[in-house]
Amino acid sequence: MSIARSFFRLAASVLAVAALAPLAQAQERVLNLYSARHYQTDEALYADFTKATGIRINRVEADDAGILARLRAEGTASPADVILLVDAARLWRGEQDGLFQPVKSAVLEQRVPAQLRGGVSEQGTQWFGMSTRARVVVYDKSRFKASDVDTYEKLAGPAMKGQVCIRSGSHPYNLSLFGSLMEHLGPQATENWLKGLVANMARAPKGGDTDQIRAVASGECGVAITNSYYYARLARSTKPEDRAVVEKTGLAFPNQASWGTHVNISGAAVARNARNRDAAVQFLEYLASDSAQRYFADGNNEHPVVASVKPHTALAALGSFKAETVPIAKVGANTAQVQQMLDRVGFK
Ligand code: FE
Repeated sequence: MSIARSFFRLAASVLAVAALAPLAQAQERVLNLYSARHYQTDEALYADFTKATGIRINRVEADDAGILARLRAEGTASPADVILLVDAARLWRGEQDGLFQPVKSAVLEQRVPAQLRGGVSEQGTQWFGMSTRARVVVYDKSRFKASDVDTYEKLAGPAMKGQVCIRSGSHPYNLSLFGSLMEHLGPQATENWLKGLVANMARAPKGGDTDQIRAVASGECGVAITNSYYYARLARSTKPEDRAVVEKTGLAFPNQASWGTHVNISGAAVARNARNRDAAVQFLEYLASDSAQRYFADGNNEHPVVASVKPHTALAALGSFKAETVPIAKVGANTAQVQQMLDRVGFK
């Protein structure tokens, strides 16, 4: 065979393979997941779905705001099938902006409590909570006792001068907490509270929730606000430095005598323009299954939304508590006003 001829044959076979490639791709079932969940333990959660269904998960990760912005920019061309967000206010925002499509699923309606779901119409439900997390107070046991920090209100009081550590005010976890306070206290009292909180800060907001807990243990601050799972993660750790953090600190569930501790959710929705709608619904139903709920509980120390699935012992050991029952939609609606308050009181 001449060189020219063998080259021709090689080129022809490359072309043949190239022509087959799109076909092979079309046959492989893929689900495009836009996720704001940033927990490594979720890998196993997705792998199990693929193992059970043969559907590969193609994951795009960004924070909640980044995902919503991307969906808006992509419009009808968006490849997103499923959206996972870690904050109720952002889920509410996505619903308001028409980024989701309603889902009718007997499985989800049976397994996800009604108060943890998005808007309902004839066509179905906009989104479903899959796990919950409490926004709690961690304190230095050598400086304070639990009763010093048993309400969010106390964090803005004179006894907390120079003591408070908290991440950025405009982080979704905080926007939702402040949006919930606005629902309970009203806008003026909430702005005054925010002013008091800023005046009590031990340092300018920086880092994530775990950094705030560590700063309490190191003595930089006396109290901090954090999601419960970050503390449970440290409590489960066998590292001596993490053990020391847990030894030195206490945890309080605020507002047990009033409206209850603020609870946020991680939740899922089917994208407005999902091309793989059936697989997307299948994935949501999988997230509400006992085995997936166990991943939320054991992997990231969250509270499962399915009542029969128990939280991890490290989370349960932090104590049982009364959670607020404020409608999530109201918290979401308040966050735009909260952001303006943050600007006025200088909460970065
Ligand atoms: Fe988180």
